[in-house]
Amino acid sequence: MVKKIVAGNWKMNGSPQDIQSFAHYSQILTKPDQLDAIICPPFPLLGEAKQSFHEQLLIGAQDCHGELAGAHTGDVSAQLLQQMCCSYVIVGHSERRQDHAETDVMVGRKILAAQELGITPIFCIGEQMDQRRAGRWGDVLAQQLSILRDEKIDAGMLVVAYEPIWAIGSGARAENNDIVEAHGFIRAQLASLANNASKIAILYGGSVKPDNVVELSQLADVDGALVGGASLKVEDFSQLVEAFGATL
Ligand code: PEP
Repeated sequence: MVKKIVAGNWKMNGSPQDIQSFAHYSQILTKPDQLDAIICPPFPLLGEAKQSFHEQLLIGAQDCHGELAGAHTGDVSAQLLQQMCCSYVIVGHSERRQDHAETDVMVGRKILAAQELGITPIFCIGEQMDQRRAGRWGDVLAQQLSILRDEKIDAGMLVVAYEPIWAIGSGARAENNDIVEAHGFIRAQLASLANNASKIAILYGGSVKPDNVVELSQLADVDGALVGGASLKVEDFSQLVEAFGATL
């Protein structure tokens, strides 16, 4: 069975007080073992999360550099994330691809760096609205996934997040049939790239909220969610965790 995952991406939001709210939640959180609940705060809050979170709530980071150390001002290495007890790291988020001109090659290096340190990458892929309208979404996803051909990448230690860029932060998630079609396509692509493709969790991301998560959690090949806005409040995040927990 594929593990279920609910990962909260706080982006450039959150405070030490929010970490404490989630620390309290982590103490009362009950969930099936086959479900990982993860919070990815901004880098400066990782230390506080490490000190405060009960082990039921895992810690993730929002990015790492492709090298393990060196002259890279403002970047953070997977080595440091490991010391901060990060179990997961988001790589290739569309906001990083756009704001920091990250290429597929750079994202591939980040995946390798994370895996080298025993941190599972949450590898984000997704198309723009104009690419979808032009019927090119499959080509875009296939191109982004093709970095997994690098035989050094361990497909056994990988999560893929399908995040249609037009749905992120829009308030409206993609339609069920579009999600099922894209996830089926990704699963098939993974099968041609990795031996254990059926075990790779595929998350959906893009305006997942308490009022649309139950339906989402029941769709074929949707193994969890990567969540921005709705991960900032414990009351919302806990409902997302419950919805995916109920599928196990
Ligand atoms: C995200 O940025 O990964 C995301 C899915 O954001 P939101 O849930 O706010 O759309």
